[in-house]
Amino acid sequence: MLYQLSYAHHSNSRIVVCPGAEEQAKQRTTDHPNPLDLEFGVWNLKPAPSTPDCEKIMGTMIDLDHPEIGFAVGALKEAAQLAKRIQREMAPTALTKEDKSPVTVADFAVQALLGRSLEMAFPEDTLVAEEDSATLRGTPQQEIQNQVLESIAHSVPDATLEQVYQWIDRGGKEFGHRFWTLDPIDGTKGFLRNDQYAVALALVVKGEVQIGALACPNLGGGCLIIAVRGQGCWRTHLTGPEGFEELRVSACEDPAQARLLRSFEAEHTNLGQMDELMQAIGVSAQPVLMDSQAKYAVLAEGTGDLLFRLLSPTYPDYREKIWDQAAGSLVIEEAGGRITDLDGKGLDFSVGPLLTQNRGVVASNGHLHEAALKALRAH
Ligand code: AMP
Ligand code: MG
Repeated sequence: MLYQLSYAHHSNSRIVVCPGAEEQAKQRTTDHPNPLDLEFGVWNLKPAPSTPDCEKIMGTMIDLDHPEIGFAVGALKEAAQLAKRIQREMAPTALTKEDKSPVTVADFAVQALLGRSLEMAFPEDTLVAEEDSATLRGTPQQEIQNQVLESIAHSVPDATLEQVYQWIDRGGKEFGHRFWTLDPIDGTKGFLRNDQYAVALALVVKGEVQIGALACPNLGGGCLIIAVRGQGCWRTHLTGPEGFEELRVSACEDPAQARLLRSFEAEHTNLGQMDELMQAIGVSAQPVLMDSQAKYAVLAEGTGDLLFRLLSPTYPDYREKIWDQAAGSLVIEEAGGRITDLDGKGLDFSVGPLLTQNRGVVASNGHLHEAALKALRAH
């Protein structure tokens, strides 16, 4: 049998595999002038036209040679390893911030490590991230500062506390034409319960999310999801086998079958309104409770269909923070889903760290979106 083999460097290249052909392809590529990279799909193998039945499209591949995409994947993998190590090795102590939310060694350490990585990769770029060093500097619990430094030392053995503070504050939340936004531990409460959490990183250019990436160490054995505007949404393992698979939202059109997702923390939503909406839309199963943008990953991979972030009756004026939404929103959109605020408006990432032009969030596989908005207008 004849095989056609070609090499492609950029995204949108396809791997076409015919059963039994892989060995021949590997043999052929030994002499091929370009490097063989099976994991990232840079070569094409086509069976002869006379054998179309044995073609199996393995998928369009993401371009990891693109500097920003490669950075996002590499930096998030490293950050997720750090978060996992802290969870495994350190007692789960948390400080309470001014807004009463918890912050842990992992939040500071992950933000410091990512701030450092960004400084090395894109020295001009700023970071709009959840934490700042003031809380860490100001704590009377020196133990926490020592633990942050100790955990960073795995990656940067000679780091000083002063450097850690600077990496945390890298960019000083400067909101400009192009910046990265980071939630070092999205779902800190989930992290403290050893439940779902995510490291969420996005690149925003002129108010538009261009890259959105989520590392979810406790989801599906540990996964990393990256969406690139116009290039789809992809999932890989945090550890173990390399390779990316493309994600698509579910095809569910029947509200009665819809799998609904909501925050684990009851005070981050409105339980009474949630019940009313479920009745109005006709959703029968109780919502799945999950912390962080891991919910957005679940929607993108098609194991959930609909998600509400309703306004808590205790905090009716709550406005979403950019690092809680930017990465996850592109993940949903590039997987074919839809995300808006509760009034049906697109999320506006051009206004600042707070999404002041939006109220809450509704996200779906697209099919269920209009029904959700209709129910929201009535309830
Ligand atoms: P989730 O686990 O989906 O509830 O999302 C966690 C995020 O909720 C945290 O990163 C907080 O920034 C954010 N958050 C904190 N308080 C509220 C609130 N009252 N309503 C909605 N989200 C909140
Ligand atoms: Mg968060």
